[in-house]
Amino acid sequence: MAILVTGGAGYIGSVTVEGLRARGEAVVVLDDLVQGHRLALDADVPFYQGNAGDRKLLARVAHDHKLEACIHFAALASVGESVAEPAKYFENNVEQGIAMISALAQQGVRRVVFSSSCATYGEPEQIPITEQSRQWPTNPYGWSKLFLERLLDSYDTAYGLKFVALRYFNAAGASEKCGEHHKPETHLIPNVLSVALGEQPVVPVFGNNYPTPDGTPIRDYIHVIDLADAHIRALEHLRRGGQSDFLNLGTGHGFSVFEVIECIREVTRRKIPVHIESPRPGDPSRLVADPTKTKAVLAWEPAVSDLRSIVRSAWNWRLRHPSGYVAQ
Ligand code: UDP
Repeated sequence: MAILVTGGAGYIGSVTVEGLRARGEAVVVLDDLVQGHRLALDADVPFYQGNAGDRKLLARVAHDHKLEACIHFAALASVGESVAEPAKYFENNVEQGIAMISALAQQGVRRVVFSSSCATYGEPEQIPITEQSRQWPTNPYGWSKLFLERLLDSYDTAYGLKFVALRYFNAAGASEKCGEHHKPETHLIPNVLSVALGEQPVVPVFGNNYPTPDGTPIRDYIHVIDLADAHIRALEHLRRGGQSDFLNLGTGHGFSVFEVIECIREVTRRKIPVHIESPRPGDPSRLVADPTKTKAVLAWEPAVSDLRSIVRSAWNWRLRHPSGYVAQ
């Protein structure tokens, strides 16, 4: 029996594949390689290049491998881009997601771990954010994730599909082998590291007039290794017959954009000039998780998610892979 990992050649997917294989799990990866990298996976990982919503391809994968469960990462994930190009997000994340989950349900796959997002909450009414907090996204990316959450919940009620939707806060950091390499890169930590490396002249800071102590937005950064660990625990929870659930993946601690940049200055000991720019449309001012429920349901603790460890791991990976994933 194998676990299908869609988007398994992407940033969080590849670290999860690494973790699953380290535990001796059989894994098969489906990835369109638009953002993912074949080099992020060991050569012997069974791999199919294609779209997560390609029903014919999914039938072939299910035929070739007896699928027990799916961890569904494959999605576009840039907030700003989703505001500029919503159609791309609804087609890719929602339309393809519906096709994929329906096709898997038809193939008899009854367990899904889904990459959801804190973007489903929008501008929160209270901090920290619990899973019961109101969900009203401020951008199409968040809506695309919320739609899939609703779909999974309905499929559980109607068809008995069991799922865990993991609402990530800000994934960051790297494992020894796998790191963050997006094209183009929009996320804060890799962008600041590019400036530290001299690849970019200045960090654009998108707004310094938010209602936060230093005026820049606050986020809850979580190490990709802790995220990957939670996916594996979510799968084990479903295997034990656990209920479908929605769970926050964050640390409970928030850092402003300026605090992150300062931490990166300390770790890299490089000069990092910044330039204040207009706020990015769709950006909430403060997103910090209450991870209490996740800790209880999955017996999970963020083990390596202090900001310095996150930054140090991302920096070390970038020093080893200055151009990201490129064939040697
Ligand atoms: N940000 C920034 N400059 C950048 C990238 C991001 O000021 O080059 C800010 C962004 O406005 C947000 C925070 O950093 O407030 C985290 O953004 P990121 O894109 O990393 O994650 P998001 O929270 O949007 O998923």
